[in-house]
Amino acid sequence: MHPKIGILALQGDFAEHVQVVKRLKAEPVLVKTPDSLASVDALIIPGGESTTISRLMKKSGIFPLLKRLVGEGLPVYGTCAGAVLLAKNTGDARVRPLGALDISVKRNAYGPQKESFEGAVAIVHGKARGRVIKGVFIRAPLITRTGRKVAILAVRKENGSIHPVAVRQGNVIATTFHPELTGETLFHSMLKELAERRQNEQA
Ligand code: GLN
Repeated sequence: MHPKIGILALQGDFAEHVQVVKRLKAEPVLVKTPDSLASVDALIIPGGESTTISRLMKKSGIFPLLKRLVGEGLPVYGTCAGAVLLAKNTGDARVRPLGALDISVKRNAYGPQKESFEGAVAIVHGKARGRVIKGVFIRAPLITRTGRKVAILAVRKENGSIHPVAVRQGNVIATTFHPELTGETLFHSMLKELAERRQNEQA
């Protein structure tokens, strides 16, 4: 049976993730309530506005369940605003973080003249190590700190400095850019693998 990949559909670009999940032959499930969250093998938190998604997660009752499930090993992948929501420190009191990834982020850190841009992202970990892919950054957060247990999967070079743009800690993956907009399936495939493993464990 195909794994069920939930896509948090409270706000943001969840529709694009649905297309990627379908392409990978997994079953997409739109998650708007705690009930629908309880039935999935993995979850994607899309890009959007992290303050809004945070507020709606609280209002819908999803926040406490998701915090518990991710702590218990539910595979979760956050893009952009999703990465902010997964972080330990968001630097913004309006965004209540899940704290599942030991990273600190600075929201909208690329400055107004760089609201949105495309740039090279180098994969530095795993099977795809050495590949350079296109990253679409839209008011992206900057990862300013990574904890000891956090693996850096991809980096971006900018103004002489190198900073992480894709990270993983166990069952949690985050990218500050949007692979769902470029047809890049590397990170979604990684999530699908974790979802299949969880499906087998729970069967
Ligand atoms: N800047 C947004 C935030 O922090 C994220 C933008 C995005 O997800 N594309 O909420």
